[in-house]
Amino acid sequence: MPDTIAAVATGASVSAIGIIRVSGDDAIAAADKIFRGAGRVRLADAQARRMYYGELSGADGGIIDLCLCMVSRKPDSYTGEDSVEFHCHGSPVVLSEVLRALSAHGVRQAQAGEFSKRAFLNGRMDLTQAEAVIDLIEAETPLAARNAAGQLSGAVGIRLGCVYSSLLEIMAHFHAVLDYPDEDIDDFKMQDYIKTLMFAEENLARMMATHERGRVLRNGIPVAIAGRPNTGKSSLLNALVGFERAIVTDIPGTTRDTVEEKILAGGLLLKLIDTAGLRNAEEPVEKHGVKRTLAAIRKAGLVLLVLDGSEELKEEDYAAWNSIPGDVPSIVVINKSDLPNLLTPQLLSTLPSQPPIPNSKLSTPIPQLLKTPAPAVRQPVRVSALTGDGLDMLVAEIIRLFPEADGQADGEIITNTRQFEAISRARSAICEAIAAINASVTPDAVLTEVEAALSAIGEVTGKTVREDITGRIFERFCVGK
Ligand code: GDP
Repeated sequence: MPDTIAAVATGASVSAIGIIRVSGDDAIAAADKIFRGAGRVRLADAQARRMYYGELSGADGGIIDLCLCMVSRKPDSYTGEDSVEFHCHGSPVVLSEVLRALSAHGVRQAQAGEFSKRAFLNGRMDLTQAEAVIDLIEAETPLAARNAAGQLSGAVGIRLGCVYSSLLEIMAHFHAVLDYPDEDIDDFKMQDYIKTLMFAEENLARMMATHERGRVLRNGIPVAIAGRPNTGKSSLLNALVGFERAIVTDIPGTTRDTVEEKILAGGLLLKLIDTAGLRNAEEPVEKHGVKRTLAAIRKAGLVLLVLDGSEELKEEDYAAWNSIPGDVPSIVVINKSDLPNLLTPQLLSTLPSQPPIPNSKLSTPIPQLLKTPAPAVRQPVRVSALTGDGLDMLVAEIIRLFPEADGQADGEIITNTRQFEAISRARSAICEAIAAINASVTPDAVLTEVEAALSAIGEVTGKTVREDITGRIFERFCVGK
């Protein structure tokens, strides 16, 4: 029988309300010992999910707070166990006194994620829902939150459930054939199985295809702001962020390291990376900065190549353009539009239309998201980081490059790499099973593959997941969740 646990669920800072959660077989009895409800209501007799007002007494018996208290009884609680919530005044001192009072009655401090782990172990949610809890807590954009909320209501589990049960049926039949070898599977049935397997494969492939979008939703798009020194990269970052973050000076080479800021544009999280100016650096620190810039460009989901519209193109501009790998999308940003323009279309056309160096296949799969090719250099966006002119056009252009995937209901976008890898293993096993049937291999070979697929799907939802993996998943949670 698991012991009874408690934790502050609302974080460690001062707030209007602070919530203490208690869960386990002794939760209600322990809470009754420290809570005196108005009208002498005992929590043991309290109605579930109703708020009761009362006094809380500390370990020494003195009153520590006046609060609201709610009881949930197993199995209809978050954890599936008897649970109590105290809604106290949100002082960290009060909350730690409540925890101390509870510990005098045998309740121990919960570990990170322990409430959700119990919910999972008690069958209140599958693993995709548990992972959605943490995604929802950590969501940095409304879109990411919406998808996590969809997953919390079981979208991934439901979709996988269909595939799982169709595979189970095939497995049951193949088992029967193995147990009774005289019973042959007729050809008609075989074609039926292939159809079911192909349906399962299609479903999994569709889920896998959402993962790129999922990564963008969850992690944002790394946007490298690159160019030769003094074109206004730091100014552009500051203008986009809306406040001064990077150091802006007119001394070339000031930004020696990469500076990062996050902004929300059209629901997308953009991780803007201001990079050291690209030029032939001699001095060691700047040289290092340039090296990091090149690394940031290679890993970027998008590069903004900043040119200075008030000057003619320099050798370093060509070098900066050439450092962008061919398969990383880029937008040419002509800055300083408040000054007379010297960058004529003729001059711009001297930049090669496609940066030549292909990126390593390993580094960034994000560009695969692009439905439209990166705009050619002849459609640059003119901005003034100084006055803010053209920034809206630039942001619109960025959003245009990363359109929302079609037909993906909220919650069906796979944001989680662990889930993606298990789904992709399941899909490979199904492909093997189809190949085995087509090659008229013995039923046990088909069975092995279908079993592998089932086990991989089970890993996603938590049916067949190993204890150590479960442990690692819940460690990512905060205490109190
Ligand atoms: P970086 O080296 O590319 O990061 O360039 P900075 O952002 O440090 O800017 C270099 C110089 O250009 C500074 O003196 C800025 O004030 C100036 N600057 C940046 N953007 C603009 C702009 O849009 N218009 C004008 N007139 N000056 C700008």
